[in-house]
Amino acid sequence: MQIFKRLSYDTVANLFIQDTSFNRIFVFPLKRDMANQIKCPNCGVYNTNEDYCTNCGTLLSYQKRRELAFAQEEKDRKKRAQIQKETSPSFYEKNKNHRFLVVRIFVKIIHSIWMAFMAIGMFIAWLVSAIAA
Ligand SMILES: [Zn+2]
Repeated sequence: MQIFKRLSYDTVANLFIQDTSFNRIFVFPLKRDMANQIKCPNCGVYNTNEDYCTNCGTLLSYQKRRELAFAQEEKDRKKRAQIQKETSPSFYEKNKNHRFLVVRIFVKIIHSIWMAFMAIGMFIAWLVSAIAA
């Protein structure tokens, strides 16, 4: 503990600031925020450290805008996938809960044959690649 007593507060501060990780986390963000004046694309008012325009409420933060766009994209993609699933369910999905038992059994048999066929196909593909290698 002797060493800490000998160091003045300034020395400690300097040590921290010289440390690059400290710089990255604390000093550079501060510098960046100080120069973070964004002109509103909608009304032309300059805003300092605001995510939304103080005058008209337009979203200013580039990062935020990108995040929102990304979230929207994700939502659209999910919706499209949902629609796709609803409009064209697979033969198996459509008939596995059919009201006639015969149809249900028939569909299950076809489905298991298909699965077995795929498994065999994959096995042959693996075998060919194994032999080739
Ligand atoms: Zn504005």
